[in-house]
Amino acid sequence: METVSLGEAAICPGLTHRPHAASSQHRASRLSSPRGVGVFGGTFDPVHRGHVASIVDFRDRLSLARVLVIPAGVPPHRDTPASSGAQRLEMLRLAFEGETRIEIDDRELKRSGRSFMVDTLASIREELGASEPLLFALGMDAYLTLPTWHKWEALTRFAHIVALARPGIESVLPPVLQAWEAGRRVAPDALLDSAAGCIAHLELSQLDVSATAVRDRRGAGSDWRNWLTPAVADYIETRGLYLQSPDAGADDGGPARTPAEPGRLAGTTNPA
Ligand code: ATP
Repeated sequence: METVSLGEAAICPGLTHRPHAASSQHRASRLSSPRGVGVFGGTFDPVHRGHVASIVDFRDRLSLARVLVIPAGVPPHRDTPASSGAQRLEMLRLAFEGETRIEIDDRELKRSGRSFMVDTLASIREELGASEPLLFALGMDAYLTLPTWHKWEALTRFAHIVALARPGIESVLPPVLQAWEAGRRVAPDALLDSAAGCIAHLELSQLDVSATAVRDRRGAGSDWRNWLTPAVADYIETRGLYLQSPDAGADDGGPARTPAEPGRLAGTTNPA
């Protein structure tokens, strides 16, 4: 799994690091040439305005060179997505059409066998080389489930972790995450000073919407379109998606996941 080894200089300096000590020269060069690659994964069943706003904000707040949006395959321990992998991919493309520095990445849908975020980050790290900052962002609800993910402690070998505050989600960290953050927690701005290994919490303006609520409202005939971009709403309507209960959804033949990584599919309310 780990083919690119990060030199010491690339790893988060942790508690010894002073986030505000980055030189003005460093900051100036950052402004002139965006660097750093963001990763935002999820089921996106469907992608909604909450996702779009967060991903755009994530890119802009940290001036990232690009953000990879990575839809997950079929999870065995969460309901099968109601729409296929190809449909979720297409909805993502529609949702971000015209946005620069945001790329829809289908590597998890293409990968055979089990697909874990740690492997995804390792494959991206392999492409980027050792020194490019890689930032894996996830909602606070998903972050709180991180200790249940496959090889979760290895995530920081390849990337920084960015926990995004989400409305209505209590962010009291369990002791295991508090311990993990010790020595790794930095201010968001400091993430671009190293390649991987740090953790930051980033408050973003977020919309109180979930894909579950979109599916439920669509199924119940309530207003649902406003939570989606018009192109995604049209796509759903044209294809008659989400008219059935999510349990009756399509099987897109995507990669299986194991019970060891329930929280991989972030935002899920049925993690077992
Ligand atoms: P579901 O309701 O089906 O669980 P979801 O809306 O939570 O879906 P996911 O695709 O499971 O969306 O989540 C992908 C990522 O998006 C996760 O990191 C999750 O925390 C984040 N996320 C979900 N909803 C929002 C929102 N309204 N604002 C910001 N981030 C969100």
